[in-house]
Amino acid sequence: MSTIFKRIIDGEIEADIVYEDDLCLAFRDVNPQAPVHILVIPKKEIRSIADLTLEDQSLAGHLLLVVSKIAVELELDSGYRVVANTGVDGGQSVDHLHLHLMGGRQHEWPPG
Ligand code: 5GP
Repeated sequence: MSTIFKRIIDGEIEADIVYEDDLCLAFRDVNPQAPVHILVIPKKEIRSIADLTLEDQSLAGHLLLVVSKIAVELELDSGYRVVANTGVDGGQSVDHLHLHLMGGRQHEWPPG
């Protein structure tokens, strides 16, 4: 399983990176669906939320904390949406776990 996101992690493909640490990487979505649209991904190759194991417990929590930290840094003070499309029915198109952080506009509910 080598995805486009793995190639971004490995520096083979450029991305507009907004945050990086030992465990994860965050960069702007190439096809933004909101004024702010960031993808937060683990450096570990995990296909989706459905593939997380107990071993990934702290990593999964870390990803959420990074989302929160980036939202503060980007001054998304009035809120934002976090989405993890999972599997075929979830509309996942890249098989490397990622959290979409979208802000800068009012989001509707339910989503499509
Ligand atoms: P999914 O549909 O799997 O939840 O989301 C995948 C996201 O990755 C999409 O929003 C898509 O625009 C974004 N994406 C796909 N390829 C690239 C890329 O090469 N660079 C960046 N920055 N985003 C990408």
